[in-house]
Amino acid sequence: MPTFLLHYSSEIGLKGQNRRDFINQLRRNIRRQHPAVTSVEHLMGRLVAQSPQAENFSDVFGVAWWAEVRVLPPEMPAMVAAAVEEAQRQAAPGRTFAIRARRADKTFPYNSPEIGRQVGAAVAQATGMRVDLDAPDVEVFVEVAPGTVFVFARRHPGPQGFPVGSSGKLVGLYSGGIDSVIATYLMARRGARVRLVHFHVFEHAAEAHQQKVGQLAQRLGRYIPGLQVYYLPYRLYHQQAQDLPRRFQPYRVVTFRRFMARAAAEIARQWHAAALFTGDSLGQVASQTMENLLAVNQALAGFPIFRPLLAWPKQEIIDLGEQLGFYDLAKQPYRDGCALLARKPATRAHLARVEEMERLLDVPALLAATLAQAEVFSYG
Ligand code: ATP
Ligand code: MG
Repeated sequence: MPTFLLHYSSEIGLKGQNRRDFINQLRRNIRRQHPAVTSVEHLMGRLVAQSPQAENFSDVFGVAWWAEVRVLPPEMPAMVAAAVEEAQRQAAPGRTFAIRARRADKTFPYNSPEIGRQVGAAVAQATGMRVDLDAPDVEVFVEVAPGTVFVFARRHPGPQGFPVGSSGKLVGLYSGGIDSVIATYLMARRGARVRLVHFHVFEHAAEAHQQKVGQLAQRLGRYIPGLQVYYLPYRLYHQQAQDLPRRFQPYRVVTFRRFMARAAAEIARQWHAAALFTGDSLGQVASQTMENLLAVNQALAGFPIFRPLLAWPKQEIIDLGEQLGFYDLAKQPYRDGCALLARKPATRAHLARVEEMERLLDVPALLAATLAQAEVFSYG
């Protein structure tokens, strides 16, 4: 049965007392996200998983890197034979190689440089390749753990971070744009369990679910076990807001932002989540001035709201989105409630005017009616 070696992020390694809890959460997530896995054991600072099928663990937060490995008894001849076979697969005239040896079991009679030398000599002889420790074409890894040796030829990078479920619960305001997608990824990568709230303009939530909003949530759900999206209708708010006098027009965006935040905070309270988060970035658009962001905070009566991208330049958000494969979907056109709200939003929220508007709208009643129409879809 294929065996996989997983190393967890160095940040988990630095945890003192509660490192066990982080590692146990990581083990649970590995099994939940990869249901074919039959066992995950902790072996001196690394995890060893078995699965009858090929696996890709690059979607598990907390994993620093992983590899499919050969498992051998802790004896030099077996190690040498396996390393030679791995090297031979990739050998070609003119190629160079390096043996990367690591000894976690200090009772093993050879230290890492000695393992490297002995295995390296055998590989050089069998393949004719030269050693190049700085920039080899071929690498073969040998890791000695208590009672077991792992030999492998490819290390796959993991996403790093902390396992989802190791640092509390958050509710995110999710538009399906690249900013809120990346904000969700980043908060979950710090170990938060996440639920998302999306305001849609359709008759039924299923329409949003079928479009990029749902597709992106599906993609996020690969990383976030248990991910759910609460779809809330924008319609009720819109019907009330369109009848207001024109002088409120510039405050429609910030008032709606406050409305969305209040709805999300209510969902957060019911789930006992610690805080909200958004994809806001300071100054990125007119609705994201300091004054407008703070006007949203003021609507929450002290309930916290995190903004992981507050200081991120747009291009860097896009770059990460492309690297993770979210951007092509996120940039697709989508019928967005906020686009209908105001051509020229106020950049300075005039709080008295905003509050007057909220009284006319009867926000508590609107909130209750909107929340009563929530539809929940699961993705993780
Ligand atoms: P994004 O790329 O996340 O859409 P943006 O640059 O388009 O962000 P805005 O549209 O002003 O900026 O949205 C700012 C933030 O407000 C979003 O990141 C998200 O957290 C929240 N938000 C915006 N629209 C919605 C919506 N329809 N439902 C839920 N949250 C939303
Ligand atoms: Mg947007």
